[in-house]
Amino acid sequence: MRINVMMIVYVRYSKMSLLQGDCMKKVIINPGCISCGTCAFTAPEVFEVTDISHVKEAVDLEKNKARIKEAVRKCPVQVITFEE
Ligand code: SF4
Repeated sequence: MRINVMMIVYVRYSKMSLLQGDCMKKVIINPGCISCGTCAFTAPEVFEVTDISHVKEAVDLEKNKARIKEAVRKCPVQVITFEE
């Protein structure tokens, strides 16, 4: 009998940071996302929701600042942090 071992790694939260000029901006999805999709609906260029919400790579945080702040406000479980 052959035994196959499979490892599945789940990324529980995503972190994205971007250097822009002299300041560093970060959007962090903290643990507790309920996958409601509100952030992706509010800021589709920034967030995507698969199993949980993730911040897309190479997103322009400065350009999307207003929508990110709106997503932070609208998240029903308040797990999004935007550090300017
Ligand atoms: S709005 Fe909040 S709870 Fe809903 S998918 Fe985005 S991070 Fe998760």
